[in-house]
Amino acid sequence: MKRLTAAQVDEILAGVGPAATIWLVGAGGCGMSGLGNLLLDLGCNVRGSDAEESAFLDSLRVRGADVAVGHSAERFREANPALVVYTPAVRADNVEMIAAEQAQVPIVRRSTALAALARRRSAICVTGMHGKSTTSAMLAFALERLGAEPGYAVGATIPQLSEHARFNMAAGDRGLFVVETDESDGSLPEFAPENAIVLNVDEEHLEHFENLERVCAEFNEFGRQVAGALIYCADDPRLSKLYAGRAHAVSYGFNLSANYRVELEPREPGDGTAGTRFRLFHQGECRGRFHTRLLGATSASNAAAVAALLLELGFEARDVAEALGEFEGAGRRQEEIFHDSGIRVFEDYGHHPEEIEVTLDALRTLGGERLLVAFQPHKYTRTRFLLSRFAKSFHAADKVWITDVYPAGEEEIPGVNGEALCAAICEHGERAEFASELGRLAELVRAELREGDVVVFLGAGDICRPARALARQLKEGRMEKKQELLAALQTRLGPGSVARTDEPMAKRTTLRVGGPADFYVEPDSEDSLAATLAFCAEEAIPFRVVGRGSNLLVRDGGFRGMVICLKHESFSAIRVEGDEIHCGAGARLRAVAQAAKQHELGGLEFLEGIPGSVGGALRMNAGAMGGATFDSLVSLRFMSHAGEPAELSSDKIEVGYRSCPMFKDSIALGAVFRGTPTERELIQERMDACSRKRWDSQPAAPSAGCMFKNPDSIPAGRLVEELGLKGMRVGGAMVSDVHGNFVVNAGDAKASDVLELIERVRAKARTDRGIELHTEVEIIGEEA
Ligand code: FAD
Repeated sequence: MKRLTAAQVDEILAGVGPAATIWLVGAGGCGMSGLGNLLLDLGCNVRGSDAEESAFLDSLRVRGADVAVGHSAERFREANPALVVYTPAVRADNVEMIAAEQAQVPIVRRSTALAALARRRSAICVTGMHGKSTTSAMLAFALERLGAEPGYAVGATIPQLSEHARFNMAAGDRGLFVVETDESDGSLPEFAPENAIVLNVDEEHLEHFENLERVCAEFNEFGRQVAGALIYCADDPRLSKLYAGRAHAVSYGFNLSANYRVELEPREPGDGTAGTRFRLFHQGECRGRFHTRLLGATSASNAAAVAALLLELGFEARDVAEALGEFEGAGRRQEEIFHDSGIRVFEDYGHHPEEIEVTLDALRTLGGERLLVAFQPHKYTRTRFLLSRFAKSFHAADKVWITDVYPAGEEEIPGVNGEALCAAICEHGERAEFASELGRLAELVRAELREGDVVVFLGAGDICRPARALARQLKEGRMEKKQELLAALQTRLGPGSVARTDEPMAKRTTLRVGGPADFYVEPDSEDSLAATLAFCAEEAIPFRVVGRGSNLLVRDGGFRGMVICLKHESFSAIRVEGDEIHCGAGARLRAVAQAAKQHELGGLEFLEGIPGSVGGALRMNAGAMGGATFDSLVSLRFMSHAGEPAELSSDKIEVGYRSCPMFKDSIALGAVFRGTPTERELIQERMDACSRKRWDSQPAAPSAGCMFKNPDSIPAGRLVEELGLKGMRVGGAMVSDVHGNFVVNAGDAKASDVLELIERVRAKARTDRGIELHTEVEIIGEEA
């Protein structure tokens, strides 16, 4: 079979016209289905087959492709395609490949077809042995966020983008096109991109290349074909040897000689975000602070590669930092598939010793008590060539399971198997066990699991199945346990109480973000509240009392415990006796202010515009327009966490600015305020003045009020304004352009967006003005 070049394939595609039938052999893989998407974008009639059903096949069908399960020469002949594209995973004796040869239909491998399409755009190839899917996904995502409307073809799903491959039809030949470029089968030099990122070169694909020198020669040839910036990692000595000093070569990395030098930043106290922070220096000058939600130094290095390229393309550092900070990762790359208070389960595609080490080091940064690792070796050839490196790559693990080799289309090699690898790992001193049946792997891992463990399933084959099975079992187990606990709690509550599981906290907070609370209770009486507290103590369930949620930011993973809300009418009634206003902790502040006005009692007008409850206002000593909650307080009723109710007069209570420490270990049940007899019209006038001031100075969009405490030297809002941060966005979160101290949910914000935005404001205040900002809003819950 004569091998066609990318230029020839491009000519064929141009010659047959856009509506031609293109046949895909092995259409259901991530890369092939991506190519299918590109061809569909071009208007081609996409047909083909795969050995098994997959979500990728389905997504092609949804777009009109005719792709079937099972290879068939008859279907192929009936389709009469103009071109056949195959994946290297397909064997040469495939019936459709034979039929194509007999019918003399041009046949090309996937990479050549992709190279042909890349010729039609300003291509940016992302290549290297490790990390190219994540890096190309990150670049595609960042360009999308930067408004460049890129095309892209990435070999992993990108949950934040609707497809993992798209041909930007409207862009024309100058449109940017990000291509994850595979080096495994010698097709790298078929690409002649405008720009490129090369991450690393390593001993890999030795079934194809004679030796490492041949691999390097391939990268050398590729480098010559890059017309514009060739961004390469200065920490890789082989790449430095190949590319340093070459025209247009730009290096990045931790190495002091790198053109773009990365410096990791330690985590600041109070930083509520996940991931890794770094600064990027170009010729000694700091070009900006960056944050990636991905873990580990290598993730920072990959993000630096993307940042370096985008800066070379002329994008602003601030915009680049913003876009990179929003990227949440590619499918099966450091992907968290289960998370509760005690256990975290990840899936990762790593299948090379270098990738294993990097992934395990990154997961170690999570601080779990033990790191448990299940690994499925991928290909007999790789297992044989790299056996001694594999044996040494699990040193960060506390326990390892090794399955048998996933063949990926290869013939078995006698003596090369999971058992042998497992023995080699044990010899190296690690605790490893051979898991002979993949179907039992989830069970084996589950039997070993205990609180505090981080688990990762590693491999490029079908180890995702037991990984997902374990995640499902843990979720089901958690749900079952939750339902049991809920039923037990309900037997102890009064009949008017509300008790539920999995309450979305976005519904219970004014900022409208936050994942679910495991349990949610609205007790109908003090007895029910005391019973709830006793239940939490017995079952060791953490709890949190929440009012209207107007001073709370709940993280996307939600709250692992019980949220108690005193919304029931028995806690929210308001009664006026003489000049005293008796109100339950659940009463709305606005209702308290209205009741006071109704009875011509002044002094509580400032409560009108604070969107909280009496309980929250007592805890925070809420105040506005010169008044504060404790100014008018006569006494309050509270319950200790042990369930004992009691009362206290206000002169016995210690209060501070926006704080009342006694509620750290007690719950407000109600309060008595004293008003000053005042004419209703005057009260109304004061209320109107308060609300005018609010409307003029505060945003209407959902928020949690003032985000930061005022530093001594300057009000936080003015500081944010002076720093030029009003209007700054991360995802759906935005610094209000009305008031600098408000972060608003401008649409579909996640808690992670808000947290990232908070960190950017804090970082800017720290570097530009030396001011440390602290949040006034309370941040609770877990990362997603
Ligand atoms: P939540 O936000 O639900 O909880 C706040 C804290 O109180 C948490 O620690 C919670 O555990 C605790 N808590 C709640 N109920 C109880 C209870 N019964 N017993 C013990 N602890 C409890 N604040 C001001 O001070 N002045 C303002 O002018 C102001 N303006 C705002 C404007 C807007 C638009 C928004 C969204 C908020 C504003 N806030 C303001 C913040 C907020 O409204 C106040 O802090 C309010 O007192 C919080 O009440 P909450 O019921 O919403 O409490």
